[in-house]
Amino acid sequence: MQLFNTLSRKKEEFVPLEENKVRIYVCGPTVYNLIHIGNARPMIFFDTVRRYFEYKGYDVNFVSNFTDVDDKIINKAIEEGVSADVISQKYIAECKKDMEGMNIRPATTHPLATQEIPEMIDMIKILLDKGFAYIKDGTVYFRSRSFKDYGKLSHKNLDDLRSGERTLAVTGETQKEDPLDFVLWKPMKEGEPYWEAPWGDGRPGWHLECSTMSRKYLGDEIDIHGGGEDLIFPHHENEIAQSEAATGVPFAKYWMHNAFLNINNEKMAKSKGNFKTVREVSEQYDLQILRFFMLGAHYRNPLNFSPELMDAAKAGLERIITAAENILFLKKNASSSAMKESEEAVLEKSKEFTLAFEKAMDDDFNTADAISAVFELVKYINSNVNEDSSIELLDGLYKRLKTLTDILGLEIRRKEQVLDSDIESLIKERQNARKERNFAKADEIRDKLSDMGIILEDTKEGVKWKKV
Ligand code: AMP
Ligand code: ZN
Repeated sequence: MQLFNTLSRKKEEFVPLEENKVRIYVCGPTVYNLIHIGNARPMIFFDTVRRYFEYKGYDVNFVSNFTDVDDKIINKAIEEGVSADVISQKYIAECKKDMEGMNIRPATTHPLATQEIPEMIDMIKILLDKGFAYIKDGTVYFRSRSFKDYGKLSHKNLDDLRSGERTLAVTGETQKEDPLDFVLWKPMKEGEPYWEAPWGDGRPGWHLECSTMSRKYLGDEIDIHGGGEDLIFPHHENEIAQSEAATGVPFAKYWMHNAFLNINNEKMAKSKGNFKTVREVSEQYDLQILRFFMLGAHYRNPLNFSPELMDAAKAGLERIITAAENILFLKKNASSSAMKESEEAVLEKSKEFTLAFEKAMDDDFNTADAISAVFELVKYINSNVNEDSSIELLDGLYKRLKTLTDILGLEIRRKEQVLDSDIESLIKERQNARKERNFAKADEIRDKLSDMGIILEDTKEGVKWKKV
C-alpha cells in the first residue's frame, strides 16, 4: 500500500510501526460554529482511510480532537454572554450530528483540549527542562531554532521563515527571543478561561494541544497524522518540534494532507465568509451525496463545490442504489436458491472489480478510481442478473457491492421517505395532547419527530417544522 508522505514529498510503502495496527491522529475542528463543508473534507476522507485499513485487517486506533479553547470560541462566548464551555459543548453536539449524517464513525477517542491540561503542563515542563522553551512574563515560548529539524515538514528553510517577523507587531508577542518562536502557554486575560500553572495562570497554545493529545492516546510515535494542507505550516511543523523535542523519537511516520475544498475556485473558510455549512447542504441533499461528491476527487486535488457536481454525484449514487435495490427485489422473487455453473463463473469474474477497487485504494487512496471500479461493478451486475438468477448469485453480488460501498461509507439502501402528510398529522396529534395538558405525550411525539429528522418551532403563527 502506497501513500504520499508530506515529509518526504513522495509516495511511500505503508509499513506500520506495530504489525497489523495503525495509529492515526487527525486534527479536528475548532468548535465555535456549525462546521462547513471544507471542514467535512478531511473528516470524510480520513474516515474512509480508517475504513479501508480495517477492511485490510488492521486494528485502527483513530483519534481526532475537538479544539474547545481558542480565541474564536471565547469571542463568540463574550458576544452571546455565555461561558466558552456553553459554546464549545453546543457545537461539539452539532458537529457530531453532522458527522452522523455523513456516515462518519465516531473516533476511537475524541479528546477535548480542556480535559487534557495537566498533560500539556507536563509537556511544557519537559521542554523547559531540556532548554527548548523559555518563559517571558507568564508566556512560555518554544525556541524553534533549538530544534534542529525545524522546517522539515513544510520544507521551508529557517531564513524564509523570518518573514514571520512581520507578524510580531500584530500579535504583540514582542518578548520573543526570535520571531520564529511560538507560544506554548498564554497568560490569562480578564474574563477568559484559565488554568493554574507553575509559570502563571493561563491557557495552552493550539499547537501544543494536538502534540499532547496524540501522545496520551496513541503514544510517542504514531503511524499517520492527518489534516488539511493549511495545517502543514505552522501547526504541524510546530507539533513535530514540540513532540520530538520532548520525546526524542520521531512523532508521526507518515503525514497526510488533503487539498482544499473550494467554492468559486477559492478556499472555503469561515474567515472569508464564503462557506456553506454541512447543515445548509443537508437541507437540499442527503449528506450521503455530499460524501460521495467529496470522494469523487483524489484527496490531494483541490475540489470545487458546485450544484452541478452535487447533482452529478446525486445521479451517480442513485445508479448504485438502484442496482442494489434491484438485486434485493430479484432475490425476493427468485425461484432457485443454489448457483448454476454459469453463475459461478459470473460471480468469480466479479472479483475483478474488487481487485480494481483495491488497486486504486492501495495507490494513495485514489477514491476517484475506486468509485469508477464500483460503477463498473454496477454495470456488470445490471447486465448479469435477471428474474432467473439464483439467490446465491444475487447474494454474492450484493455482498461484493456492499463491501466496497461500506469502505466508502455509503449506504446503498434508499432511505424511507417521510411524507409531509405524516408529519402534519403527528403535529396535530401533539397539539391535541397539549390542549389536553398531556405533556408527556406531547413530548413523546416531539421526540419521535426529532428521530425522523424533523424539528418543531412554536411561532406566533402556529407550529412550524423543518427537516434537518
Ligand atoms: P479548523 O476548524 O479551521 O481548524 O479546521 C478543521 C479541519 O478542516 C482542518 O483539518 C483544516 O485543514 C480543514 N479545513 C478547513 N477548511 C478547509 C477547506 N476549505 N478544505 C479542506 N479542508 C479544510
Ligand atoms: Zn492539530
